[in-house]
Amino acid sequence: MNHPPDQPNRTRTTCAYCGVGCGLEVSVAAGSAGQPVPRVELRGDAAHPANHGRLCSKGSALGETLGLDNRLLHPQIGGLRASWNLAIDTVANRLRDIIAESGPEAVAFYVSGQLLTEDYYVANKLMKGFIGAGNIDTNSRLCMSSAASAHKRAFGSDSVPGCYEDLELADLILLTGSNTAWAHPVVYQRIVKAKAERPQLKVVVIDPRRTASCDLADLHLPIAPGSDALLFNGLLADLARRDRLDPAYIAAHTEGFEAALAAAQASAPDRASTAAACGVDEATIARLFDWFGDTTRVVTLFSQGINQSSSGVDKGNAIINCHLASGKIGKPGAAPFSITGQPNAMGGREVGGMANTLAAHMEYENPADLDRVRRFWDAPALAHQPGLKAVELFQAVAAGRVRALWIAGTNPAVSLPEANRVRQALQNCEFLIVSDCEGRTDTSQHAHVLLPAAAWGEKDGTVTNSERRISRQRAFLPLPGEARPDWWIFTQVARALGFGSAFDYDTPQQIFREHARLSSFENDGQRDFDLSGLSMLDAAQYDALQPIQWPVTPTHPDGCARLFSDGRYYTPSGRARLIPITPHLSVARLDAPHPFLLNTGRIRDQWHTMTRSGRSVRLLSHIAEPFVEIHPEDAKTLGVGERALLQVHNHHGSVTLRAQISDAVQRGQLFAPIHWNDQFASAARIGSLVAAVTDPISGQPEFKQSAVAVEPFAATWHGFVLSREPFTTDQIDYWCRGPIEGGHCHELAGKQPINDWRGWFTARLPATDPMLESSWIEFQDAEAGRYRAARFIGGRLDSLIFIDRTPQPAERTWLLERFACGQIEPSARPALLAARPAVAQPDAGRTICVCFNVGLNTIEQAIHSQRLCTVEVIGNRLRAGTNCGSCLPELRAILSRSATPSAATQDCQAQNRHTDQC
Ligand code: SF4
Repeated sequence: MNHPPDQPNRTRTTCAYCGVGCGLEVSVAAGSAGQPVPRVELRGDAAHPANHGRLCSKGSALGETLGLDNRLLHPQIGGLRASWNLAIDTVANRLRDIIAESGPEAVAFYVSGQLLTEDYYVANKLMKGFIGAGNIDTNSRLCMSSAASAHKRAFGSDSVPGCYEDLELADLILLTGSNTAWAHPVVYQRIVKAKAERPQLKVVVIDPRRTASCDLADLHLPIAPGSDALLFNGLLADLARRDRLDPAYIAAHTEGFEAALAAAQASAPDRASTAAACGVDEATIARLFDWFGDTTRVVTLFSQGINQSSSGVDKGNAIINCHLASGKIGKPGAAPFSITGQPNAMGGREVGGMANTLAAHMEYENPADLDRVRRFWDAPALAHQPGLKAVELFQAVAAGRVRALWIAGTNPAVSLPEANRVRQALQNCEFLIVSDCEGRTDTSQHAHVLLPAAAWGEKDGTVTNSERRISRQRAFLPLPGEARPDWWIFTQVARALGFGSAFDYDTPQQIFREHARLSSFENDGQRDFDLSGLSMLDAAQYDALQPIQWPVTPTHPDGCARLFSDGRYYTPSGRARLIPITPHLSVARLDAPHPFLLNTGRIRDQWHTMTRSGRSVRLLSHIAEPFVEIHPEDAKTLGVGERALLQVHNHHGSVTLRAQISDAVQRGQLFAPIHWNDQFASAARIGSLVAAVTDPISGQPEFKQSAVAVEPFAATWHGFVLSREPFTTDQIDYWCRGPIEGGHCHELAGKQPINDWRGWFTARLPATDPMLESSWIEFQDAEAGRYRAARFIGGRLDSLIFIDRTPQPAERTWLLERFACGQIEPSARPALLAARPAVAQPDAGRTICVCFNVGLNTIEQAIHSQRLCTVEVIGNRLRAGTNCGSCLPELRAILSRSATPSAATQDCQAQNRHTDQC
């Protein structure tokens, strides 16, 4: 495709966050002495095929996350700064000694879907080819390894058949186990646009929870947790019964159909039994089955809700079975489509950076592949069997079988199941190396050696998105301090271990060429992943590489949008395999002490463990505190109201979360986001509640169903603090912190009463310049348990505390604005302690649109006072939702709960027709 060249001051790169893989254009204005961090402006790349210029709220706020606070800028050994030479020698010597004593299986790498393909390639080659063990796994294990295994079982290769364009060409889209609106917002916006242009496009959401994605749904199936495979088995049986299969496709291009159908019929023989087992009424099931059977162009988009299960591979194959048996694959608008979580989960799969694959879509199980990779790498010590997958890897660390562990760019102390045990394993690990751009994380604090890695904006290489599209990530910032790219760090260690001739890389382009050559080495069309068309790129061509979907071969020199169009698969027979599926529901056992089923997931404006997105004031203005969604009846039974604190616990751990009461979750179910950790909250690592139960094939943990108990957190006081510098939270029972404009906000609660609030508060504030005058205003009502105070330093508002017996309201926009300003006239200061202006002013409320900072109260007030009736009108009046569109589902939800009577709505529509707003 034609793609405009980079402008002199503009860099085209790829978003740091999710697997949508949006293109960005970035321009940098040099920093100054007073502002050492360069000013970065970015916008969506209109020429990038993944996003066509769109960005979501996270992508739009990337420029706010580039500061050097908490950056790791120098190597450290034992907590002390060290030179690169010493750090590399220390790592190499310890690895060499441990390998000599205990063999190569005693060392392991745990890497990340945030690494670039070139980083991944070098790490994989070092571990499997030269250290000689299979022990390299990745946090992508937690995200999409079940989908990868399902692909291999069905297609003989880990291939995503379709592309984003298929979503626009489909007549029916099933979103299953995917809150696309929040987890992959730009893909969701593409579906929104397609549906606006073709209202006949039907969207079905299959999810136990009513998520933001339901905003678009023609049909929502709130199925019983874990019943996905049964639902798709029921669909397969129904397609057969109603003669909606594609017998010609089955005969020509598949194998295993009869067994798969028999298994489907055995577990879900008819609509009534399927509906009963899935906990959905029969009419709803019937609509889904009718639509699927009667529509040729169907895309089933699936994600973590399918993958993060003790039977995630079976669930993926149950979906794929339906597409294969009805011939809905390899055609425009028809595909099963696994969408990946991370920016480069797909790139990691390409290089083989997972413990159970070898390299470049070649497998341990195939002796010819082992021989091929051994010869290509000239690696006599090549590992000949799979290594440890993530969960078992950390169990091996805990048991001392893995003595040295190198963690690159990920935070397993937060993200793995049984996170408390993982933390313990890290504490006890004999030799822990962490390479990361972050200074302090829940994981890095246990490291013996810390290696400073390049961050997004400084990295140069490639990533592959969910539709197999390889895009360049280009550096637009200099490397700060002594930070270095991950590929460089692995290369240096490989050289220090004596493998220099195999690791003579000086640039990522050299690595990419080798990666592309390996993909095509003795390939002859036998493997799907083939980059032969890119294996001769010179430095200039690599630099100018435009987004392209693999395979890239002489047959497909411009890449390939869709796989399997010819009905040929990569199994020995060339046919796709249908897999007989016997559905298993959850392994989580609810019992009297643990009667709730906890579901986990992502929120709109945060990413992973918040190391990047938690830096942005704007992103934290949407949801600033870890929460648990609980059904109103369950909250009533517990005797708690909105914003109460709840303790959620089981045998594995305990967390304290803010209650969000909502009928979006069903009775007996809970939902909590995965993002918060010990750097941001006292106890909110959701992974600590998840059992280390995994899929037997993929090793992916079951994050979606954990049996837990819930009880009110017995606080005697609640409050919050705004401060210029971080406030000391030691010994506070509940706290959560985040950045605000001009400082930090801390939510607090405690179990023990405090008598001297002024003393308690002052002792926890950082010391101030004694030359500056300090003054206080205070209000105390001891009987009511209420204390409020503000401290001024040098005439400027420095800190504020609000304490009460009951939880404090979340809406405090006016107070935050005053704090950001800092200069408060003495006459206006008492109003601070009332948390509202002396003269009534509107409070914008909780931020809904982070792009234009539009709050809930502003929107609700405008809906009522101006009788606004569509999100388009709200956009015209308030600008909300008119930039990235991430908040559109919430705007629709606000509209529907604020719905004006139908006569008024008609009136609104009539009025606005004349102003082209409705
Ligand atoms: Fe980044 Fe958002 Fe695009 Fe994902 S959808 S790649 S987070 S801009």
